[in-house]
Amino acid sequence: MHPDLEAHLLHCRNLPSPPAVALRIIELAQDPGADLNATAQAIGVDPALTARMLRVANSPLYAGRRRVDNLPQALTLLGLNATISLALGFSLAQGMRGSGDARDQERIWRRSVLAARLLGNHAGVKRLEDLMLAGLLQDIGALALLQAKPEEYPALRAQADGNDALLSLERAAFGADHAEVGAWLARHWRLPAYLADAIDGSESAPVADDAFQACVQASGVIADLWLAEGDVDALRERALALVSACAADGTRLDDLLVRIATALPEISAMFDVHIAHPGHLAAIADHAKELLILRNLREIQDAARARSEAQASEAQVRQLTEQSRRDPLTGVYNRLQMEEVLEREFATAVALQQPLSIAFIDLDDFKHINDRHGHLVGDRVLHQFAQTLQRMLRSTDLVARYGGEEFLVVLSHSNEASASRVLQRILEETSRMPMAEVDGKPLYVTFSAGLATHGTGRQFADARSLLAAADDALYGAKREGRNRVSQHGQ
Ligand code: GH3
Ligand code: MG
Ligand code: MG
Repeated sequence: MHPDLEAHLLHCRNLPSPPAVALRIIELAQDPGADLNATAQAIGVDPALTARMLRVANSPLYAGRRRVDNLPQALTLLGLNATISLALGFSLAQGMRGSGDARDQERIWRRSVLAARLLGNHAGVKRLEDLMLAGLLQDIGALALLQAKPEEYPALRAQADGNDALLSLERAAFGADHAEVGAWLARHWRLPAYLADAIDGSESAPVADDAFQACVQASGVIADLWLAEGDVDALRERALALVSACAADGTRLDDLLVRIATALPEISAMFDVHIAHPGHLAAIADHAKELLILRNLREIQDAARARSEAQASEAQVRQLTEQSRRDPLTGVYNRLQMEEVLEREFATAVALQQPLSIAFIDLDDFKHINDRHGHLVGDRVLHQFAQTLQRMLRSTDLVARYGGEEFLVVLSHSNEASASRVLQRILEETSRMPMAEVDGKPLYVTFSAGLATHGTGRQFADARSLLAAADDALYGAKREGRNRVSQHGQ
């Protein structure tokens, strides 16, 4: 670099300079023995930097499954190299906010950090944090010139028509362009060599096979394109060429711009930089619209999935509820459910002035079956008998196990005569149907039933009295010798 310029820069008092914490991190970056502990100590002295590292570790770019809530965890998640690069980027970004025209600084302080990272993804570059840092710092020379030549440089920038023109004007005026100045500054600060090299090459012709450098250059042009006003065709051409040179997977410039727009809030927050939204790139708007449509589509799919999940859990609740209503041994309704149903049926019968019959059914000498053949056989008998009841009844009738070997049957719309016929048929069927087989021999049971009907003959005050009447009738049947149906009041 021109000795005059170098002397000028060295003696420039308000040249942007790295803050103390950045200097310490620069040292660590040079130190082959540096480890996460030493890095955590260096970062830990700066609460703002610490907070930012935590934010990054929890941002969607890095976040693991668990929330990170202290610095050592964050650094372990990010790794040593990424930590150093990110911390350096953050601390330099903070320290670099000098005086001068904010708008010019904004334009120079290229927001290519995001483009660099995204491009690096597509180019297969492994050191994404290094790339972000190189993207961030590539125009640091222009910032230095803004401070060192506060009168000449802003005018020169305003006069230049495009980047190539600016580079020529810089060389003519200072004997070096901003890429050279930036690289000099990076070496002066003892930043890692790859950074100085990347800044040095940021405005040269692209080097074949150097994906890292190609990404830095492309990110710079994309940032220019992003911020450009007016005629952007030439810039667009350059950006297209550079993107296709470094994104080996065929990613197109427009895709990249849309992706940048999507990831913008995240990176803006990370680096605490304001990144202006371009208003003039129609392609971005079109792609954003497409994205929006896709997102809507995804939302519709998500909603459909949520609905079917809700339906599934509803079905599960229904199934559980149904289970809680049934007796596990026989599968018929349990007493609790029966009492509920009976209340309802009784109210309906009263309201519609329809007959309602119920029957208590109790197996005869069931204790004897248990005693003689064991409880397991007794269980099988109970199960089989319940099945028989269900088979012999209409689907609108209801069977419940009231307890032990006692069942209750509700025959809606049935008067005394028809209820009695149904019960007689079941009694006959039971005498023909073995309920189990013991040692190859069929086992038969009989039952006694007590029938009560709310209807024209007799009106009951409530379901409970109807139940009591059926119970009375059952005892009558037992008294009369079992294996019979007895009707209340007869
Ligand atoms: P009765 O003709 O007077 O009704 O005589 P019973 O022996 O049928 O009546 P009792 O009430 O004396 O005995 C009922 C028996 O039912 C006694 C009990 O051990 C049996 N039992 C109740 N619940 C179950 C069950 O879930 N499984 C089995 N295997 N037996 C049961
Ligand atoms: Mg019994
Ligand atoms: Mg009993």
